[in-house]
Amino acid sequence: MASSSSIKSRHVAVIGAGAAGLVAARELRREGHTVVVFERQKQVGGTWIYTDHVESDPLSVDPSRLVVHSSVYGSLRTNLPRECMGFRDFPFAIRSGESRDPRRFPSHGEVLAYLQDFSKEFGIEKLIRFETTVVRVSPAAESDGEEGIGKWRIESTEKEKKSHHRDEIYDAVVVCNGHYIEPRLAEIPGISLWPGKEMHSHNYRLPQPFKDQIERVLENGSVVFQNGKTIFTHVIMHCTGLSPLPFPMFELQSKWIAGVLSRRIMLPSKEDMLMEIETLYARLEGEGVPKRYTHSLGINHFEYNDWLASEYGCSGTEEYRKEMFLMSFMRKMENPETYRDEWEDHHHLVAQANHDFSLYIVK
Ligand SMILES: Cc1cc2nc3c(=O)[nH]c(=O)nc-3n(C[C@H](O)[C@H](O)[C@H](O)COP(=O)(O)OP(=O)(O)OC[C@H]3O[C@@H](n4cnc5c(N)ncnc54)[C@H](O)[C@@H]3O)c2cc1C
Repeated sequence: MASSSSIKSRHVAVIGAGAAGLVAARELRREGHTVVVFERQKQVGGTWIYTDHVESDPLSVDPSRLVVHSSVYGSLRTNLPRECMGFRDFPFAIRSGESRDPRRFPSHGEVLAYLQDFSKEFGIEKLIRFETTVVRVSPAAESDGEEGIGKWRIESTEKEKKSHHRDEIYDAVVVCNGHYIEPRLAEIPGISLWPGKEMHSHNYRLPQPFKDQIERVLENGSVVFQNGKTIFTHVIMHCTGLSPLPFPMFELQSKWIAGVLSRRIMLPSKEDMLMEIETLYARLEGEGVPKRYTHSLGINHFEYNDWLASEYGCSGTEEYRKEMFLMSFMRKMENPETYRDEWEDHHHLVAQANHDFSLYIVK
């Protein structure tokens, strides 16, 4: 750790005002940095901003398509209990109000409302340039003479002023642009000959278009459709999956980044970091894990979170969060239809969460 006299304040650009960008902005400002958040939509919330719109290409492969950011569908509820999803010092607690959803696994609208509450509580909106898209990030020629640290050039455009192209220099850039925008498609031999409809779940919103398409199912497993066709299946929906990374991980990453930028947390040498990367790749290869899964943390994210917390100097993940996360993961596997509404036997975990939350909620 550096001494307080060597702590630096930086000018930092954050790209995106979803859950990660919002908490990054808060932590950077807490650490004494100046922050500008770029957000191409007109409100905070990122993925949790539901829209009826879908992309013109149901598989999202046409490069000329208009990209829709969110994959959230109409009936989506969270796949984690709210107690382990929220930021650590701003609990995702039940709030009163007509439009609020008090359920343990609430609807997408409740998550959006929570993120709007967070942004309001910590005054983040005034740091955000809405409807402003970052179109290019590149290393700038200028550097911090004292440390020889490179700066970054950010080029952005504002929606209202199409011709307005802004070009600015920042000390650092924190990229929080979301990780579920580009659908990944399964490669299925012979798919091009298949007569049915193919889409990615990124472009699924409501069930109505699929209603009454099936007339009956035959004993041999074939499905007979209204249009007279008989095939084994009518729609291939690529639901190639995502693993939830609860907001506390973004919070701890943001604390760590803010500390590294102020030089309160010192990075290892470049050689040590490269060696660690090599060791990690070698381990993954040994375990038969493809390189593209390097960032798939799964339940190991707790270990990673605890490492971030110890670097920053705060407490690691609370036990009740870990238990709730694992419990909901297992229940989801066993009862995918009902796991969200069957929590009667876990009062002790909810009680621990509520006790923890009471430290932060002002009555
Ligand atoms: C369908 C679905 C369900 C999920 N369910 C859960 C759940 O139940 N629990 C859970 O914990 N997690 C869930 N997740 C994970 C979810 O991704 C995270 O909860 C979290 O919302 C991700 O936040 P983010 O800030 O990283 O990204 P996002 O929320 O995607 O935000 C990124 C932001 O960056 C902006 N942006 C992107 N590019 C630019 C640019 N060039 N210039 C300016 N702005 C830009 C976007 O407009 C957006 O606002 C789910 C994800 C999906 C897709």
